[in-house]
Amino acid sequence: MPKIDVDVTRCKGCELCIVACPKDVIALSDNFAPSGYYPAVPVRPENCTGCKLCAYVCPDVAIEVWK
Ligand code: SF4
Ligand code: SF4
Repeated sequence: MPKIDVDVTRCKGCELCIVACPKDVIALSDNFAPSGYYPAVPVRPENCTGCKLCAYVCPDVAIEVWK
């Protein structure tokens, strides 16, 4: 099954990946990352198709997609 990993030390919580994901896999966490931002997290990982749109739009190269 495809999955994503978000590097919370890079993520600045800009939400671009949330908008880009066609499957509503990602949301912002309720918990601060060490960086002081609310990071993106996969909340519906079972819906991920591995399309990589989230990784393409992330300006901080914080998302890796595994197929
Ligand atoms: S790889 Fe595609 S489906 Fe999976 S979280 Fe990223 S944008 Fe969404
Ligand atoms: S696009 Fe990148 S920096 Fe922005 S919320 Fe998503 S993972 Fe974080």
